[in-house]
Amino acid sequence: METIGPCHVVKSKKTTARSIVNLAIKELQNNKKDKINLIWLEATGCSGNIISLLNAENPDVMYLLQEMVSLKYNNSLMAAEGEKAFKQFLDTLDTEFILVVEGAVSTKDNGLYNIIARYQGKAITAMEAVNLAGEKAKYVLAVGTCASYGGISAARPNPSNSISVAEFLKREVIRIPGCPSHPDWVIGTIANLIAFGNLELDSKNRPIMFYSITIHDHCPRRSYFDKGIFATKLGDLECMFKLGCRGPITRTDCPMRQWNGYVNWPIGANTPCIGCAGESFPDGMEPFVRY
Ligand code: SF4
Repeated sequence: METIGPCHVVKSKKTTARSIVNLAIKELQNNKKDKINLIWLEATGCSGNIISLLNAENPDVMYLLQEMVSLKYNNSLMAAEGEKAFKQFLDTLDTEFILVVEGAVSTKDNGLYNIIARYQGKAITAMEAVNLAGEKAKYVLAVGTCASYGGISAARPNPSNSISVAEFLKREVIRIPGCPSHPDWVIGTIANLIAFGNLELDSKNRPIMFYSITIHDHCPRRSYFDKGIFATKLGDLECMFKLGCRGPITRTDCPMRQWNGYVNWPIGANTPCIGCAGESFPDGMEPFVRY
């Protein structure tokens, strides 16, 4: 029998995404499942989530986009440009596809503050594109905190009237918050949809497999917190709660998964968690933001 280490929860958190990706790949290779088309729209945000996705490992992003799904539209990665690119978007609407949206939806003046394409002489807003694809997509994934909750794009005073994808579309939207989201959270969710057709979500529609614990639950500084020993300045080794750490109210598996090829994460680099995956980020995340 395989030894699974001292803590089964930690072990399973580390390996669940990986094993589901493997399962999805097997199903695709055995022709038991079909590759599904993917439209990835960059709406009102910084495009940080598609950049984060480029950091994916095992499988890397090329494998995801060529073998697991068929990427039909993404303005950062696709080869086509201009009208040709947008035609590809329109053609995909009549197929079975997953819609990923990163960035919030800017709604002021009919979406005028975020034009993503020009087609047959007409400016196409992100709002219109999200609406068109959102009506027809098999699954909609809001990737990143702006798409999930409004995030930085909807921060006070929100001059573009940006709102989350779920608020805008009023249909089931899977939220994968984080500023940015971790590549494993995105690929693991897509793999789960390929392999099983659905996945278990929490009350805020986040995949339970990635968002079921708080950072505080598994923080390596937790014993300092429990004993009331707190850092007084950045660089101290103790718990950073009194420096404004938002780990106790932020649900992600960062302490176990880690970032940038699984080598480190904010608290590991001596900086408090700023709560970037939280619903009220950034307005409600004092002291990171203070008005
Ligand atoms: S550093 Fe933050 S997450 Fe870690 S124990 Fe302290 S408050 Fe909790």
